[in-house]
Amino acid sequence: MTTNQQLFDAASDVMPGGVNSPVRAFGSVGGTPAFMVSAEGSRLTDAEGKEYIDLVGSWGPALLGHKHPAVIDAVHAAVDSGLGFGASHPSETRLAELVRSRVPGAEMIRMVSTGTEATMTAVRLARGATGRKLVVKFAGCYHGHSDGLLAAAGSGVATLGLPGTAGVTEAQTSETIVIGYNDRAALEQVFADHGEDIAAVITEGVPANMGVVPPQEGFNAFIREITQKHGALMIFDEVMTGFRITEAGQWGASGRQEGWTPDLFTFGKVIGGGMPTAALAGRREIMEHLAPTGPVYHAGTLSGNPVAMAAGAATLEHATAEVYQHIDSAAEAVATGLGEALDAAGVDHTIQKAGSLFSLAFGTSATGVHDYAQAGAQEAFRYGPFFHAMLEAGVFLPPSVFEAWFLSAAHDDAAVEQILQALPGAARAAAAA
Ligand code: PMP
Repeated sequence: MTTNQQLFDAASDVMPGGVNSPVRAFGSVGGTPAFMVSAEGSRLTDAEGKEYIDLVGSWGPALLGHKHPAVIDAVHAAVDSGLGFGASHPSETRLAELVRSRVPGAEMIRMVSTGTEATMTAVRLARGATGRKLVVKFAGCYHGHSDGLLAAAGSGVATLGLPGTAGVTEAQTSETIVIGYNDRAALEQVFADHGEDIAAVITEGVPANMGVVPPQEGFNAFIREITQKHGALMIFDEVMTGFRITEAGQWGASGRQEGWTPDLFTFGKVIGGGMPTAALAGRREIMEHLAPTGPVYHAGTLSGNPVAMAAGAATLEHATAEVYQHIDSAAEAVATGLGEALDAAGVDHTIQKAGSLFSLAFGTSATGVHDYAQAGAQEAFRYGPFFHAMLEAGVFLPPSVFEAWFLSAAHDDAAVEQILQALPGAARAAAAA
């Protein structure tokens, strides 16, 4: 048997850090990553034959659980017709229509291959459509790794963005303004100072990349209002939340109930059902600024790939109201069990939850977590021991405290029970850290 350690050594020799995406590395929790070889329902199996209940869900796409029969059948049928045509084909329109039928305001759609490409293109489109240059983002929101969106966190006060990574120059982030999340006053100030030059405000439907940080009551509606007032666009990044935090499977990260729509959406993860696809969507007159109808260029060899379209369409078609009810109640059970286990072990914490998405923040009960600064101030050192105790007990969590936990339609009572059984031991490990 090849061990996880042997696989990690081989991977590290040929790929930086042994991974193709740093979130998969065990950098912040330590230890040797498990190398997965198969996935089914709520479970993953590693190279050593150990089985785990999966709470990563492929980082979001696995809404129905792994290897859902309808998705696999749709993929097989698509593969049998060819892996790609380099030409238009009917299943692109089918997935686009499915998205439009569920998302008020998504009048037209452009398929792309990753969430990064979706947000990058949405920003370019916003600049092209408005003729303005500045983009406002919130500290702690992640919108993929395009240069201009990798601006570092400001702290409450508006700052012109500083690069958040080596390799990005100040020139590339100098037109991104970073302000604190949930900070209405900072947003007002930014518009007072730069209103005429702001092309767009980009925000996550519910931020879930600094842990889950729900918008305070009315915050998204406030972004909508202030952008409209100043002729700027609102880009609602639903790569994480789209078709996951919903109202019975319809769009609803917040706007549906409140009666507003953003100008542009971005989707990824669930929309591709586990295959590499993502999308931007929005009002017709804005979307038609994209090439070939308009002057804003975007293209992609694999955009609208037929196998990905088939996986996405089958996933959305099976994401019924019952599926969402199931996931919401499974998430509720796990989040409640998590809170009880931590309380019993005397570990100060908050559980941040929005629909079925939730995350844990240690040592934050006095302040709660409303922005990036509060998320960053938590006792993150408790997560490594907590994570490894869960892993030992057969539960695969995201290897960072700043990531959300993902439940799926395949997390049945037995899976939830196994998670609940593992939590008290992990809570004690966190207490001892
Ligand atoms: N936006 C959000 C809100 C995300 O959560 C992510 C990825 N986690 C992205 C954009 C980037 O998507 P991708 O990793 O597919 O490029």
